[in-house]
Amino acid sequence: MAIRIKTTQKILLLILTGVLLLCLAASVLVDGLLLPVRVVGASMAEAFLGPHYRVTCPQCRYRFAVDATLLPPSQKVGCPNCGHQNIELENASVQPGERLLVDRWTYRFRDPGRWEPVLFRSVDPPLEYCLKRVVGLPHERVQIVAGDVWINGQCVKKDWSTLRPMAILIHDASSDAPRRDIPSRWRPVTQVNRWKKRERGFRFSRNPATDVSEGTGWIGYQHFDFVRGVPRERERITDNYAYNQTLSRSLSSMSDLILSARVRSQGGGTLKFRLGTCELQLDASSQRGLLLHENCPVAQCVWDGKRISRDTRLEIAVVDRQFFFVIEGEVLLRYDLDKSNLDKSDLDESLGSADHQEGANPAGNTMSLDPRWYLAIGAKNLDLDVTEVQILRDVYYTDRIVGVARTRRGECQLGEGQFFVLGDNSPLSLDSRREGAGSLMERADIRGRAVRWR
Ligand SMILES: [Zn+2]
Repeated sequence: MAIRIKTTQKILLLILTGVLLLCLAASVLVDGLLLPVRVVGASMAEAFLGPHYRVTCPQCRYRFAVDATLLPPSQKVGCPNCGHQNIELENASVQPGERLLVDRWTYRFRDPGRWEPVLFRSVDPPLEYCLKRVVGLPHERVQIVAGDVWINGQCVKKDWSTLRPMAILIHDASSDAPRRDIPSRWRPVTQVNRWKKRERGFRFSRNPATDVSEGTGWIGYQHFDFVRGVPRERERITDNYAYNQTLSRSLSSMSDLILSARVRSQGGGTLKFRLGTCELQLDASSQRGLLLHENCPVAQCVWDGKRISRDTRLEIAVVDRQFFFVIEGEVLLRYDLDKSNLDKSDLDESLGSADHQEGANPAGNTMSLDPRWYLAIGAKNLDLDVTEVQILRDVYYTDRIVGVARTRRGECQLGEGQFFVLGDNSPLSLDSRREGAGSLMERADIRGRAVRWR
């Protein structure tokens, strides 16, 4: 039997609900279940910025943030993108640290998860609210190996939604400065040279003679770093932190990279991306994607070829020994590069004709790409526009912390209620890499979950 509620009862019910909601809101504000705080340090940059300057390079127009709490005595900074030095900060104003809400509610019911940013009471330095990221959970064995976090002897593999917001920009080709002493970092590297530079990117035009079968035309990336503005050609990409302008330390070679670009193509040819030992081949007519690892086909995916006939953001990544292929934020292919026992039956036999045999073309067509090109974009038999080409890197956890004499060596065994925490700005973050139990986060000291206040 249906229950009929009279109008007066309905009104009473509404008033009661309203009063309850008001009480809840008041309790949240009075009890401080959501407490506003402001970031004051540099150790979680660039995900969470403390007081900083927003700098636009006068030479290449690249925009970047610089720590305002540690500035060079000259008050001048260098551009990480084009190497231009002596950028004056005189006209820039300090931006305050980011505002956060401390969610004191969530961790009453569960422990923090891996990669979550957490606020806790720290003993050294003495702080009521210290912000770090949780990487190791109670009873786990934690070790930093070549910039990555290893748990119980295995490299921890972040998922895309965790790693992408943590990524740090290395180079943006749309802000590639015209400097006489540095050639363009992206350049044609094969005989099939149908690549041309265009505004904010590059264009590949197929051979108008359709009966001519050509190999793949590639552009490759040459890295530079800068010592006092002097460019040095580098074979590998290093973990520069532009945020830390005063820091002097040795840079580490990086392999965890993301290549991001907007792509628009016409024609049924092939688009290729090389990242280290991985190569992704996207065939526009069959709408198949094929992943090669060390020249062997290892995985495939189906993708909607129409998507790149429009202007579409494609991202290729090798991070934490796994490969990602992402279109407009949607992960189409994720492959574990540690997978040793590959089941070849997973692969479609029709891919036997794939382009990966191009290098061994019996016609003597030597179009295979020199392995020294760690990052490269290739095209074959299609018209292609590539714009907004960016290279980003994963956070690299350094062995040493500036100003700290000793850091942990080997594995750290966590006990009951202990968490291993790290700052994203690894070279200067005072975190669990330091020796001594006080550097770990204890469950009792957790103050809450860090929530962005936008
Ligand atoms: Zn610049």
